[in-house]
Amino acid sequence: MPVSKNLELIRSDIPDTVELVAVTKTKSPEEILEAYDAGHRVFGESKAQELLPKYEALPRDIQWHMVGHLQSNKVKYIAPFVALIHSVDSPKLLKVINKEGEKNQRKIPCLLQIHIADETTKFGMGYDECRELLESDLFHNMEYVEIQGLMGMATFTDNTEKVRSEFRQLKQFFKTIKNKHFQNRVEFSEISMGMSNDYLLAIEEGSTMVRVGSAIFGDRPPTT
Ligand SMILES: *Cc1c(COP(=O)(O)O)cnc(C)c1O
Repeated sequence: MPVSKNLELIRSDIPDTVELVAVTKTKSPEEILEAYDAGHRVFGESKAQELLPKYEALPRDIQWHMVGHLQSNKVKYIAPFVALIHSVDSPKLLKVINKEGEKNQRKIPCLLQIHIADETTKFGMGYDECRELLESDLFHNMEYVEIQGLMGMATFTDNTEKVRSEFRQLKQFFKTIKNKHFQNRVEFSEISMGMSNDYLLAIEEGSTMVRVGSAIFGDRPPTT
């Protein structure tokens, strides 16, 4: 099915309040323009070195989200323009983002990625690690990052009850730290969870932002 039709179907499936991030990794600028021409403006990439050339080649009113694991030495390439980094998975990375934010004189919007899956292949901080970060002096001295919420990736499995419970725990953790650390911070409002296979489930469990790739653009070649 054409990209525009896929977008329309997904949009009609999800509430207006849920942000749809169209994940474009491995897709060409031409394929991305199909979604752009259908009116879509929020796109996500999982590699900084793929994001930068696409940002340069495509219209400037696109909001680019970084959704994949980000190496510290790549932050500088995307710091000037990135609309949201979903994948802050260590205090060290957050520190680098803060530094690049200062260089660019902008507060960079970020989500803290929490490791909610069983698989060790997925990135993210543990719940305890995240709590420690939020309680640290390091965190309180960061002026050039804005923490807008949390992100998580569920275990890759057909067991929907398992996936549901991972999403549910992330939502619960969100509520707890919202009360404790972000009580009067309206910007701390996003829970990025849900991909092509599980976005409806994620929304049932409180997702505010879904990251959908293959259901919009078709299957990707296997990653190496
Ligand atoms: C690739 C990717 C997605 C989208 O995956 P699909 O299964 O194609 O929807 C979402 N989030 C992250 C972090 C990704 O790397």
